[in-house]
Amino acid sequence: MARRKQTRGSCVFCGREMTKGGLSRHLKSCTKRTEAIETANLQIKNGPVQPIYHLQLQDVWGGSYWLHLEIQGEATLKALDDYLRAIWLECCGHLSQFSIGGWSGDEIPMNRKIKHVFTPGLTLTHIYDFGTPSETLIKAVDVRQGRPLTQHPIFLMARNKLPEVRCSECDKLARWWCTECWIEMGEWVPLCDRHAEEHRTEEHDNDEYGMSPFVNSPRMGMCGYYGPAEPPY
Ligand SMILES: [Zn+2]
Ligand SMILES: [Zn+2]
Ligand SMILES: [Zn+2]
Ligand SMILES: [Zn+2]
Repeated sequence: MARRKQTRGSCVFCGREMTKGGLSRHLKSCTKRTEAIETANLQIKNGPVQPIYHLQLQDVWGGSYWLHLEIQGEATLKALDDYLRAIWLECCGHLSQFSIGGWSGDEIPMNRKIKHVFTPGLTLTHIYDFGTPSETLIKAVDVRQGRPLTQHPIFLMARNKLPEVRCSECDKLARWWCTECWIEMGEWVPLCDRHAEEHRTEEHDNDEYGMSPFVNSPRMGMCGYYGPAEPPY
């Protein structure tokens, strides 16, 4: 039976684990988040009072990879592009763009301020690399007026946990995928620790590419992307 389980992630404020849709609703009413915002609103060093946007980002293909962010209205799209590159996308410095309406939509300049782009309900498309594209849908969920939670332009409120993939040889959790099989034959071979070691020594004589660990990014395996899929701050 082909059943796709939705990925889950935790609210950074209270630790409750939910799907992205659940978090979209939860973050509006999370009491721990409300407390954090009340504290932040008194922190003059965090920046001026401004509209601050709750954005939900997801990969266009399956939506297994997603982020819930807060971004300052005074920040620019460039700050969001930088963040996306760091946490999900950057392989070899490809071009990227934001647009409304996908590939055929009008490009929005990177220096445009967030507060001049988003209104709640609006969805933007981000494309990274026009050769082997990664597409991200960015939806404005909500907006609040106040001070930011940190001095950085973006605050990560939740992200998906690494989707579970099973080993192609047994039913254990796969932690590796064979880069050699992928590059040479276009075959996606996820493997557990034991079978990764067996596969490397028995299937491939040379170890030029070897095994790559699963990383929490929708770009894994595309172009030259191998991670690390960590937030920049
Ligand atoms: Zn919460
Ligand atoms: Zn690349
Ligand atoms: Zn295995
Ligand atoms: Zn292989």
